[in-house]
Amino acid sequence: MAKPVKSALPKAVAGRDIIVAIDAGHGGEDPGAIGPGRVREKVVVFAIAKELKRLLDSTPGYKGRLTRTGDYYISLRGRTKAARKQNADLFVSIHADGFKDKRAKGASVWVLSSRGASSEMGRWLARKENSADLIGGVGSVSLEDKDDVLASVLLDMSMTASREDSRSVATQIHSNIRRFAKMHKSHVEQAGFAVLKSPDIPSILVETGFITNPGEAAKLKTKSYQKKMANAVYKGITEHFSRKPPALTYIAQRKAENNKTYKVVSGDTLSVIASQNGVSLSSLRKANNLKSDRIKVGQVLRIPKS
Ligand SMILES: [Zn+2]
Repeated sequence: MAKPVKSALPKAVAGRDIIVAIDAGHGGEDPGAIGPGRVREKVVVFAIAKELKRLLDSTPGYKGRLTRTGDYYISLRGRTKAARKQNADLFVSIHADGFKDKRAKGASVWVLSSRGASSEMGRWLARKENSADLIGGVGSVSLEDKDDVLASVLLDMSMTASREDSRSVATQIHSNIRRFAKMHKSHVEQAGFAVLKSPDIPSILVETGFITNPGEAAKLKTKSYQKKMANAVYKGITEHFSRKPPALTYIAQRKAENNKTYKVVSGDTLSVIASQNGVSLSSLRKANNLKSDRIKVGQVLRIPKS
């Protein structure tokens, strides 16, 4: 299914960065879960969030944006609003679990459940008349001037696309974390968490482990484990986007360059094709596993990066 046509200007700048909103859970008077030795969730997840931002910012084509930049409280809706304001392509909320039974353990990755998605659709549709809220990012699809059927179709398309992307990123992150951590479940889980309810921004939540479990708490408070966790989330994100980059991003342009092809027409020679594409004859031969320089009309050649 195609995404609704978007006319968003801020997102449509050619070669733009992919924006990842990084949401460190809790903050301020809300410490989140508390583990042995009073290790607090809000502190651990903020450290992981900052490391994730550092990794993204040092990768060409990506920018990390923290929803909270210090130790203060933000409402759940305030967090998704901050992501929309930043034109985020992805929202990643980072948490650590707590449970009264200290034995509970394991990391988990969450996406919005279908029940959560449909109740959220109802909420957006009900509000459309008296609210200036937009879906599809800033300046794109406004529900205000659409009739009810069209508005619900547009919203449904946007939400379906976001949920597919959420699931894809979540799966990548899950498989990266499971390389070194025990997982709560062998698959991505679903819930109606409020922070996952943006209809237009793919959103996931990572529970990095149980801070109430002495073994996991001991790991979660170390710099090295926080870095490991941030790196696994980072890898999941970049693996997803390198396969499916949003249009007009730097990553999409790089991918298009890497996948450049040329269809041979009458009169072409391999050396002319090479020089017209600014690549060496030998690299063109190699990219196409050619034993000789003989080519046929209609043959599709892969053009290597110059
Ligand atoms: Zn939490």
